[in-house]
Amino acid sequence: MRPVYDKNRLEDILADLIRIPSINPPGDEAPCVELLEEFLSECPQLEISTQHIGENRRNLIAVLRGSGEKKALLLNGHTDVVPVGERSAWPHDPFGAGVVDGVMYGRGTGDMKAGLLAEAAALRLLAEREGTLAGDVVFLATAGEEVDGCGAKAFVRNWDMSQFSGTIIAEPTGSVVVSAERGALWVKIHSAGVTAHGSVPETGVNAIQYLIETLEKIRKGFNPQSVHPTLGKTTMNLGVFHGGLEPNIVPDSAYAVLDFRTVPGYAKEELLALVNGAIAEVTAEHPDAKLWIELINDRPQVATDESDPLIQTAVEVNRELGRSTAIEGKVACTDGSILNTVCGTPMLIYGPGEASQAHVYDEYVRLEDFHNSVNFFYGLVEKLLG
Ligand SMILES: [Zn+2]
Repeated sequence: MRPVYDKNRLEDILADLIRIPSINPPGDEAPCVELLEEFLSECPQLEISTQHIGENRRNLIAVLRGSGEKKALLLNGHTDVVPVGERSAWPHDPFGAGVVDGVMYGRGTGDMKAGLLAEAAALRLLAEREGTLAGDVVFLATAGEEVDGCGAKAFVRNWDMSQFSGTIIAEPTGSVVVSAERGALWVKIHSAGVTAHGSVPETGVNAIQYLIETLEKIRKGFNPQSVHPTLGKTTMNLGVFHGGLEPNIVPDSAYAVLDFRTVPGYAKEELLALVNGAIAEVTAEHPDAKLWIELINDRPQVATDESDPLIQTAVEVNRELGRSTAIEGKVACTDGSILNTVCGTPMLIYGPGEASQAHVYDEYVRLEDFHNSVNFFYGLVEKLLG
């Protein structure tokens, strides 16, 4: 049965949440935590606590106790948002939470304050419902998801992750059930040379030249074979290339960053062997070349079996809500790469807002989808623990 609640009031709270500029970096998520805390503390059944992450940065945790017959469920979302970018590219105020024809605009509407608040609202409704659930429900609003996952990392340090039978992450999926996400491996390749006057390049060592040769070898050797049914293939993007000062100076330093997005079946070790192999070849061909790598991001992929009760129940609830029964994969990373990899906890990603709306100008969420997510989270927990 769908829960009854004051939709207008919840939309007002969502607007207040959007108006808080919790831009990361630096984060400043504390005012979002205070707002959610105020909303949840109206419900005496919930045990609420916060976790200090840094200056003006906190996680919020609210626990609804169950009978303990079944394992707990974790409802997760993040409070930080990415920067606005070029302000003039926003037809709507990025922190105005303006509503036009049932659509709310603003940074963080889709990614992911609507999903986060939908989970908090579902938790309250579950707490106010008659009867005890068979397991605990833990709501976790994390800080820092958009940069380094510092909030999720702090949570897994202090909480026993083996108590959870599933994590439900309310990132925007267009209200489609998502059971897997790709990993991310960012490899920075440094190249060091020797400066010389540009008119006598043979007296120096060109760091850019050797870096290009290395990148070419990696490009030729990169050939992912395994195809995951929903995540596709491992991809590679040369996202950063820096080097050189002036046309008339032989550059003595350069670096590039490769962004690999991994799917199950293409191991991190294989990618690192490819990069290190290319470096070894270049240094064998040119003994004056000096190249080395630095790992700047390492998030494992997460793939939950589609037959897992968490995923199957999610599909059933979505069907009942008249939504898609498809199961998809997510190409970007979430806090799931931290929360779900400690104990291999099953992961579900589901939320209002289109995935394509994350990090773009004039980000929006349909309010109808927001309310649908409240019903979805409520219905899912009730089916799993009711
Ligand atoms: Zn997000």
